[in-house]
Amino acid sequence: LWGQVRQKLQETVGANNYSTWIEPLVFSSLQDGVATFAVPTQFIGDWVRRNFADQIKHLMTTAGSAVTRIEFAVSKRAPAKQATAAKTTAPKPAGELPGAPLDSRFTFDSFVVGKPNELAHAAAKRVAEGGPVSFNPLFLYGGVGLGKTHLMHAIAHELKARRPDLNVVYLSAEQFMYRFVQALRERKMMDFKQLFRSVDVLMVDDVQFIAGKDSTQEEFFHTFNALVDQNKQIIISADRAPGEIKGLEERIKSRLQSGLVVDLHPTDYELRLGILQTKVDAYRAKNDDLVMSDGVLEFLAHRISTNVRVLEGALTRLFAFASLVGREITLELAQDCLADVLRASDRKITIEEIQRKVSEHYNIRFSDLIGPRRMRNLARPRQIAMYLAKQLTSRSLPEIGRRFGGRDHTTVMHGVRKIEELKALDSQISDDLDLLRRALEA
Ligand code: ADP
Ligand code: MG
Repeated sequence: LWGQVRQKLQETVGANNYSTWIEPLVFSSLQDGVATFAVPTQFIGDWVRRNFADQIKHLMTTAGSAVTRIEFAVSKRAPAKQATAAKTTAPKPAGELPGAPLDSRFTFDSFVVGKPNELAHAAAKRVAEGGPVSFNPLFLYGGVGLGKTHLMHAIAHELKARRPDLNVVYLSAEQFMYRFVQALRERKMMDFKQLFRSVDVLMVDDVQFIAGKDSTQEEFFHTFNALVDQNKQIIISADRAPGEIKGLEERIKSRLQSGLVVDLHPTDYELRLGILQTKVDAYRAKNDDLVMSDGVLEFLAHRISTNVRVLEGALTRLFAFASLVGREITLELAQDCLADVLRASDRKITIEEIQRKVSEHYNIRFSDLIGPRRMRNLARPRQIAMYLAKQLTSRSLPEIGRRFGGRDHTTVMHGVRKIEELKALDSQISDDLDLLRRALEA
């Protein structure tokens, strides 16, 4: 029966498809309408299921045995000649992996760990050990400049050192799309698929980029599933949590959530100071003439935003300036030299922006948020807005009170305390705060 069906398939799928996908199938059983085949690799089974299952079912049924489902079992016993039939279509320039180059500075050694990033760092370390896959995918997310790319490169460096046998591929979602479109244009989809499915560890950075790009998403989803099925490690980063990426298909979101999701929180003062100190030490190791007054780093850590890239930029500018004029870096020099950066960090967030975002988020009117009414559904968002105003602006409690319809500073203080309390107990509130803070800091 299978012999007949094969012959028919040869006509309908074409010689190329036939030798690549149909020939390696070894018919093993037919029971209760389920036809089972042995295949040399999972990949071939998946591919046949997706592309030829209907034809096979149809042809087998017309040949006399009703088949409702097709199963594949990966078998080492599948004939070698047939197994290599698939391999001959593998991309010729073997070893030409689709990854992007790694930045040699982005290692675990140069990554400063603090409260906001300790979980992400621990998860990255675990994956970098190259042991058995324990969570798949690892999904890292966080705002701009918080170290996502740094951590991913660090994983890649470490894996390459520890497990040179593994194919580790790092690339951005944008590069993934570019590769995909190129393969489509040059009619090399087969090569593209084979190439990506031969990877042992796949890292895709800034995956939010493929949101709304339907065919790229689709292909990413297939690549992702094929690798997970083969128990290959996948590491993904994005600027927000999987569920919050607009324009991403539900099934992809849920796939991305199925492993370990960890976020990099905005840096806090201690982490910023730690990073600055590390960078100064590294600079001093090469330039022993650097003289810096006490308090400069503390000042920078206080005044410059949570984005580490901005922090580094400021420091680089200070070093350059100091070496040009050959002067000690004093607080005044820093203030002068970084005036624009400091101003940019200062005008960050206004109370009004906070009030707008909060009323949008809770779907209440702006006028109600700052108005006199005391209903619970208004009171809580109002307290949240007060809390954020205290956290994200440099306004005093009385000033905040004034901006909330002339309330007393003790009311503000009470609101701030209430939210501080609830934040630890109520995960809905802490999620809301996270979201709002991110939206405001974006
Ligand atoms: P993201 O990809 O999250 O936007 P990056 O990984 O590109 O951010 O980090 C921005 C810059 O900040 C890089 O130069 C990186 O080395 C540095 N950086 C971020 N976090 C840390 C950290 N914890 N320790 C040291 N450097 C950091
Ligand atoms: Mg990045």
